[in-house]
Amino acid sequence: MKYDYLIVGAGLFGVVAAHEMTKAGKKCIVLDRRGHIGGNIYTEDVEGICVHKYGPHIFHTKNKKVWDYINKFAEFNHYINMPVANYKNEIYNLPFNMNTFNKMWGVKTPDEARAMIDAQRLKSGIKEPKNLEEQALFLVGRDIYEKLIKGYTEKQWGRDCKDLPPFIIKRLPLRFVYDNNYFDDPFQGIPVGGYTPIAEKMLENCEVRLNTDYFDFIARNPGIAKKTVYTGAIDEFFGCRFGALEYRSLRFETKILPTDNYQGNAIVNYTEREVPYTRVIEHKHFAFGNQPNTVITHEYPAAWERGLEPYYPINDERNNALYEKYKALADGQDDVYFGGRLGQYKYFDMDKVIAEALDFSERV
Ligand code: UDP
Repeated sequence: MKYDYLIVGAGLFGVVAAHEMTKAGKKCIVLDRRGHIGGNIYTEDVEGICVHKYGPHIFHTKNKKVWDYINKFAEFNHYINMPVANYKNEIYNLPFNMNTFNKMWGVKTPDEARAMIDAQRLKSGIKEPKNLEEQALFLVGRDIYEKLIKGYTEKQWGRDCKDLPPFIIKRLPLRFVYDNNYFDDPFQGIPVGGYTPIAEKMLENCEVRLNTDYFDFIARNPGIAKKTVYTGAIDEFFGCRFGALEYRSLRFETKILPTDNYQGNAIVNYTEREVPYTRVIEHKHFAFGNQPNTVITHEYPAAWERGLEPYYPINDERNNALYEKYKALADGQDDVYFGGRLGQYKYFDMDKVIAEALDFSERV
């Protein structure tokens, strides 16, 4: 056997695992179907602007160990994510905070805002939210749900808010202070120069094959490695024998515009149902750029079908139950490990992926 580890996928889980294993003296080879490393954190330079090719990636974490770890590979800027929402040309601050409540209802104090939300919660009659709609009404009341959540969520996930799990909306903070920081985490920023150099550094001493499909590769090179770390879709690994897991996909339309500042913010969400995209990204604002031109991306949610990128797992009860069946098969494999958003079928943020990859590397 030529290698100790065959690592399938050069996304964040794969590159951290490859780095740690190589550091521990293991011989690794990394494969990726795509023509570049980094998976969905991949960034590239366009007009001197660092473009997030697969959607905006803002690094944020509560985990000091993960923050110290990633800082060994990059310097981070002081970007704080403060997206705004455009609902029928009204602009609201996110996440839901005193600025949002002031714009929505004209209230000025936390007591006034709480009273508005409490009254709307009471009217909804919900005590134990069972789906995303109920969770949203319970947390923030009907006005915010209808203007800032319902349309965005239904286009993002392609289904009714009543058919989505409550946890998705609990990702967003709700606070009664004038604070537009989208995250509650103490560590946040964007790597100077983008994410691709991080993946490059992590793979420095490791063999990498791009444009390489695992199933073709392993058919041609059976037994090439003692162990496999698989970060692709777990159902695909097992030939979807219990049925296919569901994913949500995205489509990006990126263009260069001859203006130095198109929208005044890195992220503007379009929360009404009728606008077909969910958000517009102006990449230069992630790095406080002052280039003469700008690069913007319209992000369109899309139904997933085989051949498209599976960006988001749909962690509802049906899919989670199906995943458990694949997980049981995976646990029975001595020489294959599954990791990352697709391998573990979890809506992980980047910090969680790193934590999982570090845990995994320590364990094995
Ligand atoms: N969401 C919303 N309105 C917004 C932004 C987010 O209703 O303006 C909801 C939506 O359901 C989304 C979820 O909150 O899927 C999580 O948003 P987040 O920004 O964490 O999504 P990501 O950046 O991972 O796509």
